[in-house]
Amino acid sequence: MTEAAQTDLRQLSLAELEAFLRELGQPAYRAQQVFRWLHQRGARRFEEMTDLSKTLRETLEAHATCAPMEITKVERAADGTRKYALRTAHGDVCEAVFIPDASAEGRNTLCISSQVGCAIDCKFCLTASLGLLRNLGAGEIVEQITRVKEDLILHPHKSAGRPATPDFADEHEDDPPLPDSQAERAASPGRAKSGGPALPDRAPMTSQAERAASPGRAETGGPALPDRAPMTRAPMAPQLIGNVVMMGMGEPLQNYNAVITALHIMGHPLSHHISPRRITVSTAGLAPRIPRLGQDVPVNLAVSLNATTDEVRDRIMPINKKWNIKALLQACQEFPLAQRRRITFEYVLLADTNDSDEDARRLVRLLRPFRCKVNLIPFNEHPYSTFKRPSRERVARFQSIVGEAGFTVLVRTARGDEISAACGQLGAEVDAPRRMLNVLP
Ligand code: SAH
Repeated sequence: MTEAAQTDLRQLSLAELEAFLRELGQPAYRAQQVFRWLHQRGARRFEEMTDLSKTLRETLEAHATCAPMEITKVERAADGTRKYALRTAHGDVCEAVFIPDASAEGRNTLCISSQVGCAIDCKFCLTASLGLLRNLGAGEIVEQITRVKEDLILHPHKSAGRPATPDFADEHEDDPPLPDSQAERAASPGRAKSGGPALPDRAPMTSQAERAASPGRAETGGPALPDRAPMTRAPMAPQLIGNVVMMGMGEPLQNYNAVITALHIMGHPLSHHISPRRITVSTAGLAPRIPRLGQDVPVNLAVSLNATTDEVRDRIMPINKKWNIKALLQACQEFPLAQRRRITFEYVLLADTNDSDEDARRLVRLLRPFRCKVNLIPFNEHPYSTFKRPSRERVARFQSIVGEAGFTVLVRTARGDEISAACGQLGAEVDAPRRMLNVLP
């Protein structure tokens, strides 16, 4: 194998892909074609890229890889939430959660992972019990979107029952739906004749593709690599996933470069075309990288504050010993916040730890300087933590104190709770002998 044989083209931004292909004597538009195949059309192999010459496909085969990630398990909740386990080409597993929004087309949210496991060690979080197993590459971060879209096309969701709580989508109520790019319109002449693309009843794929992609998959966890990759594909409808939140496994700001590249890739019109305004990056509080994130990509910021004193935060989020509440909030002040945007402060409510009236009042004082909203997340219990969820009355009381002080404050209902897809419950699929019982010191 040559040096170049190890280049995984999925991990490259379009500019990097252009540089790579230039080395092979190829013009820039070839890179655009490959980029589209990989991200928008979900190709698994170079041989699928039928608008490239056979020679070029063979050259790519010899000099590069594009090893795909595959869904190995899908769990569906009654409200339409789906939790996906995805196996990477390295053989490890990350998770993504699709959260449908029955109330508005195009406002479905996908929660994706940035790492396999996590190093931050928050004492209430299931993912933390894994420790950090691996950083995901940019391509792997984006491919969660690609593969979930593919699943949504093959198995359209019928969101049953209650409309979603407007957790994140409410930031975007004033946004028009994403326009299709010229490229997408040109590339998908058969689609969306009336302008309203909606969900296809059937996948816009060949039946061969569907046969290849479906057998044996997923409900019960059987690995399901199609033995033949689909050979023809329409670009995948951009509207299936309207919002992306980086709140799955991992700490995005600890895998900074890959996350930034991933944000650029997923935003590109030749990829998923998800505007940064529809992406939220959530951090446990790596303070120095917070302003930088906003300068690099104008995404929405969510901060897991989770406590109102350093004493408590030190205990439940050891990262607070490095950057305490003051340093964290200072960094948030420096985050370049676009007009009409707000920072989201997340606050996991842990019974008898951070859920008192006094905490609520301190939270109000801490957040007074911010254009922000508050998401209260009643703790989702799991076997690797001894914390308990506060009573409904306690949650309601906390919410009313913060709300009456003039803040927008939502209580995040546990979507997908029955399939362990709620906040802080990701990582259950990962088989990790190292898993630690995460109890307070
Ligand atoms: N590392 C990032 C993103 C992942 S966690 C961050 O810390 O923001 C996403 C959110 O889930 C965080 O706000 C975290 O505090 C919260 N969370 C983690 N475990 C939880 C649990 N068991 N119950 C409720 N929320 C939890």
